[in-house]
Amino acid sequence: MSIKESLLTIKNELPDTVTLVAVSKTKPVSDLEEAYAAGQRIFGENKIQEMTQKWEVMPKDIQWHMIGHVQTNKVKYMAEYVSLVHGVDSLKLLKEINKQAKKHNRVINCLLQMHIAEESTKFGLDKEELDNLITSDVFKTLENVNVVGLMGMATFTDDKNQVKKEFATLKEIFSSLQSIKSTNLDVKILSMGMSGDYKLAMDQGSTMVRIGSSIFGSRNYS
Ligand SMILES: *Cc1c(COP(=O)(O)O)cnc(C)c1O
Repeated sequence: MSIKESLLTIKNELPDTVTLVAVSKTKPVSDLEEAYAAGQRIFGENKIQEMTQKWEVMPKDIQWHMIGHVQTNKVKYMAEYVSLVHGVDSLKLLKEINKQAKKHNRVINCLLQMHIAEESTKFGLDKEELDNLITSDVFKTLENVNVVGLMGMATFTDDKNQVKKEFATLKEIFSSLQSIKSTNLDVKILSMGMSGDYKLAMDQGSTMVRIGSSIFGSRNYS
């Protein structure tokens, strides 16, 4: 299937309540252009340098989502244009995003990444760290960031029950946060689900799926 056909097939499966992030990491600009021509306007990348190179040459009505782990010292390169940062997992990082956003007179939307998988390798906050972050005095002073939701990745396993359970846990935390609102906290987005598990994620209440290989084909990391 072509990129266009894959994209449209997936879009057809998503209800209006679920936003599709086309994960284009490692893929050449020509692939992104094909998806763009088919109507896709939200792209996800996991390296700031690569995303910035693509932002420079692609049409300006694209929304760029940073879905990877963010190094504090690289925030400055995307602060001018990034539309949503999915992988925020510390107050330190949030402070840096706030500082760089301020330089560009913007408010940057962020998702807090929760650790829901069994593997210890995956980044993210646990529930206690989340509570500490959003109730801290420093958080409330960050006027140039908006926390608009949560992101999580399930364990990489064939065990559907486990994946389902992990997504359900994240959905529960998400729901509990929805009643807490402050000037820079208003959670509406639940980013969960990738090529292998987005249907399970949608069943559990995902509002944003990040799909790469099912659209662009498998990646070649060389
Ligand atoms: C690469 C990546 C995806 C997309 O993965 P696919 O399996 O190719 O759909 C989604 N989320 C994150 C955080 C990623 O790094």
